[in-house]
Amino acid sequence: MDYQSTRDASLRAGAAEAVLNGLAPDGGLYSMAALPKLDWQGVLALDTRGMATEILTALLPSFSKEEMRGLVERAYAGKFETEDLTPSVPVGDDTVLELFRGPTSAFKDVALSMLPQLMTASREKCGVTDEILILTATSGDTGKAAMEGFCDVPGTRIIVFYPDGGVSPVQKAQMVTQAGRNVCVCAVRGNFDDAQTGVKQVFSAVSSENLLSGKGIRLSSANSINIGRLAPQVVYYFRAYKDLVGAGRIQMGDKVDYVVPTGNFGDILAGYFARELGLPVGRLVCASNANNVLTEFLETGRYDRNRPFYKTVSPSMDILVSSNLERLLFMLSGDTALVKRLMEQLSREGCYQAPDELLQKLHELFWQGCCDDAGTKNAIGMVWREYGYLCDTHTAVAWDVAQQYKAACPEHAPVVILSTASPYKFPAAVLEGLGHGAKGDEFDVMEQLRNETGVPVPRNLTGLREREVRHRDVIDREQMLDYVLKKASQKEWF
Ligand SMILES: *Cc1c(COP(=O)(O)O)cnc(C)c1O
Repeated sequence: MDYQSTRDASLRAGAAEAVLNGLAPDGGLYSMAALPKLDWQGVLALDTRGMATEILTALLPSFSKEEMRGLVERAYAGKFETEDLTPSVPVGDDTVLELFRGPTSAFKDVALSMLPQLMTASREKCGVTDEILILTATSGDTGKAAMEGFCDVPGTRIIVFYPDGGVSPVQKAQMVTQAGRNVCVCAVRGNFDDAQTGVKQVFSAVSSENLLSGKGIRLSSANSINIGRLAPQVVYYFRAYKDLVGAGRIQMGDKVDYVVPTGNFGDILAGYFARELGLPVGRLVCASNANNVLTEFLETGRYDRNRPFYKTVSPSMDILVSSNLERLLFMLSGDTALVKRLMEQLSREGCYQAPDELLQKLHELFWQGCCDDAGTKNAIGMVWREYGYLCDTHTAVAWDVAQQYKAACPEHAPVVILSTASPYKFPAAVLEGLGHGAKGDEFDVMEQLRNETGVPVPRNLTGLREREVRHRDVIDREQMLDYVLKKASQKEWF
């Protein structure tokens, strides 16, 4: 029983059960009270998949190393552009850690390639024979990465709901052309919140009315609150560290600062995990866009979601409630009563204040900054002109905040900037950053960006416009439950 709810120490679970359940029964997140210490130098001597095996076994002790090795192989073999999965690229004085070389060109591929393996293995460990039906609402990137990860994984099926008209044309094309016999994509009339609320209502209706009992199917989610989605992200902090040693930018044992473009706080929390496991992590720098709720929180300890919501050119960070922050509050305080009180206050009043002692710990570990759309585009242009490196909008936010950080803290360690998406996923804003007007639809703009820069388009994004559309369903939010039940009763989808 290595895991417990962040809100109640008596709600315990093994790692496999935590992966299978996703969320603790009281709404808390499954966490370890303290992470084990790893032989981090031994881990750094391995290749990326070896690192993943060691780190994931330490974080998910339900699995033996042998089992984990097999799961890691199945998750990653042949799926990424490079063997090291997440290459590091020197850009000026800094290093960019490219997390977007996976099957959908989004950093979520790293975790969502691994989660299906962890989930099916956890199902077996827990003696569950039901098929697992994943339900996910997406604002664009998660849905595609989740489908690609679960595509044809035995014992699983996945239904993705996206807001009709609410995702970019490229994101839509990526999803509706998805192959696989166990995947299903459906548009919902309304915005992302409608789709998300609809999914939550399906979960609660199914569980309170036992709508799927005896049907051999069990619902689950691929959301980033699942520890099985968080744990695989720890690996690339180690990988980047190894690459910095290899490039002579640091000596073994030196500290490294990581700058992370942040939304739901999963990516940066994985950096905190790496530090707890023993890696010499210096500061973790939290980079936000105009939705700077975390900047204020890390500065003042006041979390306040009662503020305007901005739609920015870095949409994957347009988030006002960062779910994974709850795990950090728990791990830093060890106080489930405190976490429960703060989270209840957040849901009731939309705000809370962290106690001073906690704030002090946050200040030792983190630095924070934000960057608006103008600053984002400016950074894209500058990085291209100065270093010939093309970055996406989310990475540009991190780049800008990294420069703020270095100016404010001259004693900083060597800086790694996490790059979370291919520039071709947000081509119009990137092209504007380079000082060009975008013409035509998003596919034309991709072509225009390639012509301007000569940077190759990732294979999964080329020829997208011509690919066969396999998913055409569009429904109202009120129809989502019936849709799921109908799909669950069908033996074959294709
Ligand atoms: C999801 C996402 C982020 C934010 O990561 P979190 O783990 O939610 O903080 C940043 N950039 C891109 C491109 C993303 O898809």
